[in-house]
Amino acid sequence: MKSKIILFLILSILLMSSGNAQTPNFTPDGGEFAFNAKNIPCLTDKQREGVLNDIRNNIQQLKLQKKLSYSKNNVVPHPLFIWPVKKKDGHEYNDVWGISNYVDQNAAYPNQIQDYNCGTRTYDTTSGYNHAGIDIFNWPFQWKMMDNDEVEIVAAAPGQILAKVDSRTDRSCSLNGTNWNFVYVQHADGSVAVYGHLKQFSSTTKVAGDMVEEGEYLGVVGSSGNSTGPHLHFEVYSEIEWNGVGQDVLVDPYAGTCNSMNSDTWWQNQKPYNNPNINAALTHSAPPVFPACPTQETTNESNDFLTTDTIYFAIYLRDQEVGTTINLKILRPNNTALYSWDFALNANYNSSYWYWNYTGAANIPGEWKWQATYNGQTVTHPFNVTNALSVEDNFLKNTSIFPNPTNDLINISSIKKISKAEIINVTGKSIKYIHQPTQGIKTINTSNLSNGLYFLMLESDAYEKKIIKFIKE
Ligand SMILES: [Zn+2]
Repeated sequence: MKSKIILFLILSILLMSSGNAQTPNFTPDGGEFAFNAKNIPCLTDKQREGVLNDIRNNIQQLKLQKKLSYSKNNVVPHPLFIWPVKKKDGHEYNDVWGISNYVDQNAAYPNQIQDYNCGTRTYDTTSGYNHAGIDIFNWPFQWKMMDNDEVEIVAAAPGQILAKVDSRTDRSCSLNGTNWNFVYVQHADGSVAVYGHLKQFSSTTKVAGDMVEEGEYLGVVGSSGNSTGPHLHFEVYSEIEWNGVGQDVLVDPYAGTCNSMNSDTWWQNQKPYNNPNINAALTHSAPPVFPACPTQETTNESNDFLTTDTIYFAIYLRDQEVGTTINLKILRPNNTALYSWDFALNANYNSSYWYWNYTGAANIPGEWKWQATYNGQTVTHPFNVTNALSVEDNFLKNTSIFPNPTNDLINISSIKKISKAEIINVTGKSIKYIHQPTQGIKTINTSNLSNGLYFLMLESDAYEKKIIKFIKE
């Protein structure tokens, strides 16, 4: 009697597991995406001198042509910037950028670095380079977004274009000594903003001398010049030495305890030093692939699945913070949660990605949702699930085995390809497991099984399952 109850329980468990629900696996793949991990300089000292001389020469030109908008007789406060990077209108990602480096406030070098917030999110080099701008990189899928013009550089403040170049190649991966594509804009107070690394041929049709408004399109984030991937280098001078008068004065747009260059912020709304954010929550048909620079990523993004498909659920984060958690949900069409879990973040990364995969879990046709909540913000990504093609032998109704009872060999009769088989004994222990996804399984050798009752779990290549009881004699 007791053994019958145990058998019934085992069978019930086996039958339950033969449905589409599966044990959630809450350990993700993925990790840090380290932008410019080698800290290569955006500009060499010589190139910076070139930038400043370009600015001087163009001020001279515009002055001669009586087109220079700035006049030192007009005393106005410095501008307040909007964010100089924005996603293309209608882009589906929640956000498209991260920050790798701020301005290095410490003039000593090498390895003597301090940003405005007294942190070390900046760099210098042995040659004496102190990072003088803010590096804002595309994230996620930086090359795909560059190739599709998805991340735009906009004027942080209104002003006059002093100079621009956009004819140079834009797939740099290293300190290659080439010059960047750029737009330099002078504001009403004489300060100048430097926008560097633009995509080739992407710049505004306006030319030197033309005025731009706040938020006006300047170009597409690219990787021209010394660069390891698409990013904007944004550098600001409050004053430019001209004709022996004045000097070049670098400013750090961020106000902070360790900003020794200027006391006030140059932002309309200064963003937090660490700005944790979900840049995207996406579904994929396979893991995302990040090839070596400068090859475009294979995103494997997909929003349409069959009930039997393997779905990859991914999140792409900016500034993930150690000790914080992100809540994740897979929601059925009726908004009930198939799975809901908290994922603990155990490191600080400027950018990171994490993904989980489930097969046949989204087993109801309709619009499902993949939802992530982090730092007070919820991002919801809808995806569609349709029924797998209905076939005569759905759920392996016509699949059988023979002979039963068996002696040495079990033959499987099925019109579907059986890719997995598992033999389980009456105590629930797995005795044998076979996985032959390519050729399929037609026979199973049972000669080394001891006599008795077993369960055979079969699974087709479309993830349909069936359990058949058999006796070994
Ligand atoms: Zn830079």
